[in-house]
Amino acid sequence: MPYTSVNPTTGAVVETHPDHTDEHVDALLDRAVATFQWYRTTSLSDRSMWLRSAAEVLEGELPNIATILTEEMGKTFAAAKGEVLKCAMTMRYYADHGPAMLAPEPVESPASRSELRYDPIGCVLAVMPWNFPLWQVVRFAAPALMAGNVGVLKHASNVPRAALCLEDVFRRAGFADGVFTNLFLPASKVAALIADDRIAAVTLTGSEAAGASVGAAAGAALKKCVLELGGSDPFIVASSADLDRAVPMAVTGRVQNNGQSCIAAKRFLVVADRYDEFVARFAEQMDALVVGDPMDPATNVGPLVSASQRQEISEQVADAVAKGATVHAGGVAVDGPGFFYRPTVLTGVDPSMRAGCEELFGPVAVVQSVPDLDAAIAVANATPWGLGASVWAMDPAEQERCVAGIEAGMVFVNAIVASTPELPFGGIKRSGYGRELSALGMREFCNIKTVYVA
Ligand code: NAP
Repeated sequence: MPYTSVNPTTGAVVETHPDHTDEHVDALLDRAVATFQWYRTTSLSDRSMWLRSAAEVLEGELPNIATILTEEMGKTFAAAKGEVLKCAMTMRYYADHGPAMLAPEPVESPASRSELRYDPIGCVLAVMPWNFPLWQVVRFAAPALMAGNVGVLKHASNVPRAALCLEDVFRRAGFADGVFTNLFLPASKVAALIADDRIAAVTLTGSEAAGASVGAAAGAALKKCVLELGGSDPFIVASSADLDRAVPMAVTGRVQNNGQSCIAAKRFLVVADRYDEFVARFAEQMDALVVGDPMDPATNVGPLVSASQRQEISEQVADAVAKGATVHAGGVAVDGPGFFYRPTVLTGVDPSMRAGCEELFGPVAVVQSVPDLDAAIAVANATPWGLGASVWAMDPAEQERCVAGIEAGMVFVNAIVASTPELPFGGIKRSGYGRELSALGMREFCNIKTVYVA
């Protein structure tokens, strides 16, 4: 199956690219490992300079690059510009802070001198999804390249334009050929690639099925692996919540990226004394959203990425309704070309329904009343996932109970879950393992070398 870029606003095929042949992949891997032997010796100041230069390319070509994202996966043009700028900001963050994160750390011990060094480990394979086609890659690549690794990208097969664009940005920024390489490769060939001696480690952002497959291949090859997988993040509304702040952010948290974000708020758990007011205000604001052409500045929600993604979300909602759930807003696909679906609010969902036990990767919110905060925390934890959680409470005691009690990699209080280069990003349970971003993310792909001088 070739890499195919389809505009989800129109359904039209924009570009196709054949998979790279085995011989071509072989040559690109040879080049990557040869480049690594030189690149690992480059100075931190040179790597910082190239990263800053890449940030300048992104900013200098902001409208063109953002247009690729909107045309390729349907996010609004405003969101696409935000994604490009966030990539540039993160490149600068690692250019500025990377040298300190990578500096040797002296440690007191019986040795006359002992320290930790953060050495690069080699050629890292990144298997990435389509939903943030630049950001998912950059949040791996900026720290990894700063640390002296080289990267090979197997991007999702529906975002070839974003993959080629990013490879071109790194090359024009001054990174040598072979430092960042795009591979057009089917998912079926990823396991063999992980086993290849030229690959040192692998990182995957994507579904649980892909994570299980990549994790198994990495385990068989005894290679380092980081997995950022799906989630069904809770959005807890406590008794002390400020609904004037919480409701608009509940809307943003659910429909950002047209509802297709791993860290989107997906289950809204509201204590009983705030439930009726929350549902009424939330449903009203979800219903008022403008769904349409993502290039139009008036649009809040663009199309889903593909016909199959819309079919999936339609079937999840239909199943819930057939089993007794109530629709307070949306619940329907939009007629006409493109893969649009109305922002939807459901109540009365239970675990026998697909919407009650599966990830909802579209603009569909499930709201549930819970008797009190302890029940909210218990329901929040009663899933196989543990990526993020958003808690809305003004009372510090309520905030602290949630922070301590929630089983997730990230808890945000009076804010929706978001990624930022300063803070580690990642989950627990079936949402994956390892961390991206911050110094911790950078060091996932470092040889943390112990040095002991007697
Ligand atoms: P996906 O099908 O898993 O695809 C992600 C990447 O993995 C693509 O490059 C895909 O290639 C590849 N892939 C698929 N199956 C594979 C396999 N068996 N072995 C190796 N590679 C494989 O994910 P998606 O449905 O496009 O993305 C949505 C999922 O990603 C959701 O569950 C979402 O929550 C999760 N996600 C998580 C994060 C996070 O940071 N935790 C961020 C974004 C998304 P092809 O395109 O060629 O199939």
